[in-house]
Amino acid sequence: MPDVDVLIVGAGPVGLTARALLDRWGVRTVLVEKHSELSPFPRSRLLNVRSMEIFRQLGIDRRVAARAFAPEYGRVRFRDSFTEPDFASAAMIGVNAPIAESPVLGAVTSQDRLEPTLLDAADSPIRFGVELAGLAEEPDGVLASFGDGTSVRARYVLAADGANSTARELLGIGTVGPGALGLTTTVMFEADLRQRCADAPAGVYVTAFGSILPMYPEGGWAWIGQVPEGADHREPLSRTLGDGLPFEVSRVQRWTVNAFVAEHFRQGRVLLAGDAAHAIPPAGGLGMNTGIADVHNLCWKLAGVVQGWARPGLLDTYEAERLPVAHLTLRQAVANAQLLIQAQQKRVEQLAGDDAGGEIELPWSEHYFAQLGLVLGVAYGSEAGEPGTDYVPSTSPGHRLPHVDLGGGRSTLDAVGEWFTLFVEDPAAAGWAELAPSGPLPVRVERLSGGYGTLLVRPDGHIGARWDKRVLGADELLRAQETISAAGLV
Ligand SMILES: Cc1cc2nc3c(=O)[nH]c(=O)nc-3n(C[C@H](O)[C@H](O)[C@H](O)COP(=O)(O)OP(=O)(O)OC[C@H]3O[C@@H](n4cnc5c(N)ncnc54)[C@H](O)[C@@H]3O)c2cc1C
Repeated sequence: MPDVDVLIVGAGPVGLTARALLDRWGVRTVLVEKHSELSPFPRSRLLNVRSMEIFRQLGIDRRVAARAFAPEYGRVRFRDSFTEPDFASAAMIGVNAPIAESPVLGAVTSQDRLEPTLLDAADSPIRFGVELAGLAEEPDGVLASFGDGTSVRARYVLAADGANSTARELLGIGTVGPGALGLTTTVMFEADLRQRCADAPAGVYVTAFGSILPMYPEGGWAWIGQVPEGADHREPLSRTLGDGLPFEVSRVQRWTVNAFVAEHFRQGRVLLAGDAAHAIPPAGGLGMNTGIADVHNLCWKLAGVVQGWARPGLLDTYEAERLPVAHLTLRQAVANAQLLIQAQQKRVEQLAGDDAGGEIELPWSEHYFAQLGLVLGVAYGSEAGEPGTDYVPSTSPGHRLPHVDLGGGRSTLDAVGEWFTLFVEDPAAAGWAELAPSGPLPVRVERLSGGYGTLLVRPDGHIGARWDKRVLGADELLRAQETISAAGLV
């Protein structure tokens, strides 16, 4: 008999989110993390609006927001140096101000602020200082062995063990894409920049020499840029700051920017998620967010298979649904990086002309990297098509359920959880309440007026089936539930 239902490998944001999601489902998990504690490095900066919706479902969105920067920091400012005025600026859409398409705001924060909140979001066991070393598939599970000589039998393994994934290596799963793009340096430093930042707040100040980022609302700074091997990082940091501003370096980290997607997200009973499945370059802050969306897609399926209300084949839909999203996201991140370079080039041209003081019009100004279409518009299924740069709400199967205000501060997204949700125009008229407990997973019925049709929504908030008619037979609903529990979509 397996010791646990799901072994989670890696206590990064993706493994920790998976642990919290599976906890809500009552799935027995254990998480192993090779380091003795959570990572102390700030790393990823942008928590997008979709991740915050997922955290709202977990009931932790307010705690996450309370530790993050205020919304006005949701802006990118382009300058010649930190002390000079903006020559361009762009809002991080869905972070700097509320949007009609979501009940939440994304946030500028640091991974080392986010991860403790995720850790507190579940009680299931975590074993720090335990490194995955071997995986052997058995008839009813996987035997995972660790560097300390211990082992665990699990029905499934969710490998969220980062870009250099041991699990991916052990399974011999290859990657596609450019791979390692180069070394980047992060310098953490202290300086008296708070007032200047408060006067013109931003999550990132981008210059040609590198970027300055405020780390925590109470202080602390980082510089990110390229430092050739053996060169001094103080020189580009000083040029980025400008005006001879003094600073004191506290820590330096060199890290590899990777760009790849794994060839497969699943082999047998082992599933890859987060950076283990796709490493996305940082421009636009998509990497961590894509990983959080991966496990939101995967965990209800794992719960269904482990608890017996879904067929094992449902797990095949994880790769089918998320692998194309990883490729799209990688393309968008590369396009974002090109836009950053383009902004600097335009500035060089402007300086060579006679309007050096003017603002530069960016193609995506006020639409930070114009990617809300990708953040909220991801859709699954063969007919989904690629999302555009702007988000266009849709109730077609495969799409994220659009946010509609149900009154009293409640969103359609708040009706979704560890059950199927049936949205109908008039619950009383159709006698829906009696149908609720009949399917493989309980159905909760919600009223949704406004001509959206009848919608059956999956636990991850994506629409599983849609009917134009207002009244549905009990057998039709059951068939739809069974199809979703086997194949993801009707
Ligand atoms: C310095 C740095 C700066 C970054 N900046 C940005 C940024 O600005 N924007 C952005 O979008 N992204 C950034 N990233 C990337 C971002 O941090 C990742 O996308 C994100 O952390 C992915 O989360 P994850 O949980 O999939 O993997 P990780 O956060 O990498 O977590 C994986 C965990 O698995 C553990 N692990 C690995 N192997 C094993 C094993 N064999 N056994 C047990 N545990 C194991 C690791 O110790 C780690 O804790 C940055 C990354 C780095 C390193």
